[in-house]
Amino acid sequence: MRKQFVVIGLGRFGTSVAKTLNALGHDVLAMDKNEHAVQDIINDVTKAVQADAREEVTLRALGVRNFDVAIVAIGDDLEANILITLMLKEMGIPMVVTKAQSVQHGKVLERIGADKIVYPEQDMGIRLANNLIRTNVMDFIELSLDFSIFEIITPAKFVNKTLGKLNLRAVYKINVLAIKKSADQIVIAPGASEVVDEGDILVIVCNKGALSSLPD
Ligand code: ATP
Repeated sequence: MRKQFVVIGLGRFGTSVAKTLNALGHDVLAMDKNEHAVQDIINDVTKAVQADAREEVTLRALGVRNFDVAIVAIGDDLEANILITLMLKEMGIPMVVTKAQSVQHGKVLERIGADKIVYPEQDMGIRLANNLIRTNVMDFIELSLDFSIFEIITPAKFVNKTLGKLNLRAVYKINVLAIKKSADQIVIAPGASEVVDEGDILVIVCNKGALSSLPD
């Protein structure tokens, strides 16, 4: 479904979010108080405007209240970041995502009603460290502090065996959600008789600690 996004603050993070949403086929209103930042993105989003998002009349005139999702990507100016998040929530935008500079800042944002708080630098650092340490982890989604969904390359020890024989839940405390056989062949919720082939990608859910007990 095509959604309407407003991205406020067009630094590196905001610009990359706005361009990606646009490339994925969604409506994107990009906003920055700096004219250069607006000019740089004008051909890559639905609409780009130069405005100070602290001014509520401006937000109302642009119809921001009708958007599905707002992303507050202002970094250095904490006051603007907090004030704008608050105004967007008060306008009734269902999903407001705000970039935080620190855990303390994140707590304030949570208090004033931000629906999602992101820490791009920390998140990227965690992602990179995980990729460097576990070379067979291709991707992951964090579900909670302890649990994640991982995509891993099938360990050599598992090849040509059935899930039933491998008994991964009992032995390694991992659950296999799907097996990607190729780009267009995915076995969802595989049964015990499913054979794991070389090169398969396993989509698993488990405790982060459980992952390190898997063979390479
Ligand atoms: P990044 O790391 O994503 O490059 P950053 O965290 O350093 O960015 P800033 O440069 O502080 O973030 O802010 C990002 C953008 O937000 C800037 O282009 C700035 O002009 C814009 N911005 C700051 N305050 C406002 C405001 N009140 N209204 C609109 N845009 C604003």
